[in-house]
Amino acid sequence: MHTGIGCVGIVRFASEKQKQRYLPKMAAGEWIGSFALTEPEAGSDAGALATKAERKGDQYVINGRKIFITNAPKAHHFFLFARTDKGISTFIVDADAPGLSIGQVFDTTGHRGSSVAEVILEDCRVPAEALVGEEGKGFDYAKRCLAEGRTTLAARCVGAAQKAMELALAYGAERRTFGQPLADHQVLSFRLAQMSVRTEASRLVVYRSAWMLDQGLPAIRESSTAKFMAAESAWQTVDDALQIFGGNGYIRAEYMIERIWRDLRVARVYDGSSEVQQIVIAHQLRKGDVETSWA
Ligand SMILES: Cc1cc2nc3c(=O)[nH]c(=O)nc-3n(C[C@H](O)[C@H](O)[C@H](O)COP(=O)(O)OP(=O)(O)OC[C@H]3O[C@@H](n4cnc5c(N)ncnc54)[C@H](O)[C@@H]3O)c2cc1C
Repeated sequence: MHTGIGCVGIVRFASEKQKQRYLPKMAAGEWIGSFALTEPEAGSDAGALATKAERKGDQYVINGRKIFITNAPKAHHFFLFARTDKGISTFIVDADAPGLSIGQVFDTTGHRGSSVAEVILEDCRVPAEALVGEEGKGFDYAKRCLAEGRTTLAARCVGAAQKAMELALAYGAERRTFGQPLADHQVLSFRLAQMSVRTEASRLVVYRSAWMLDQGLPAIRESSTAKFMAAESAWQTVDDALQIFGGNGYIRAEYMIERIWRDLRVARVYDGSSEVQQIVIAHQLRKGDVETSWA
């Protein structure tokens, strides 16, 4: 979250002065970044966000509430979205800005190494230079950050699926039932084969989206395709892998598969749920963005 959507908006859209202030310390790991878009009434429909930023002299005054914000309790600053007169706008808000506080810290099923919390803004005052780019362009910036974030998240899903498959392969070779290794039961060997096929296919789709982003192309459909495919197929693979572990798979901390299973589940929900990715893909298709060939 820090190196992905926490940084990418600053790299792409911030002024030189903002980049100089934030990026070296972020790259060094001294300042942790966070991306604050979601609100209680604006999750999948992020464009419905209600947080307001009003210009008052040489400051903006921000009021609203963000929810489910990764890194919030540890963040040095937030790449934060709020509504101004001209539409959705983006600000870099330092965590020590007057009027900013951290609310509830959520107890999550997985990802227990990172913290997810509410960010409350009550007459939070930031200098006018905290605005990123142009007022009213914030939602375009958010979409670009998310397109890149989706591709890196899809890559993480491929990594999780690969590891789960390797763990299942090793366990399947060692554990014996009915006089033979698990992996020699044909139904389980087919399951392992399907894990391999799904993981390889997802990997290629992710590379393709990453390559397009590297060329400076928007890759809207491609990043949603990568995220949808990698998250859904990794979930199937990790769940199948846990099944191969039988009871051992469900015992916490005994085998790593249980943690991968808990950590991966949210990939189908955040950074645009699987349903939202399909909405994006269908929208792009209707606009004529249809894959015909790789040429
Ligand atoms: C662990 C974690 C970390 C997070 N980190 C961040 C972060 O750092 N920054 C940030 O801004 N946000 C973050 N989020 C928020 C996350 O992006 C949202 O939870 C996600 O976008 C879904 O929004 P929602 O929870 O409000 O679900 P809702 O929008 O209420 O949706 C509920 C369900 O309905 C489905 N749905 C909604 N609309 C439709 C539709 N039109 N058609 C079909 N299905 C639909 C959704 O796919 C979902 O399955 C995080 C969430 C979690 C759980």
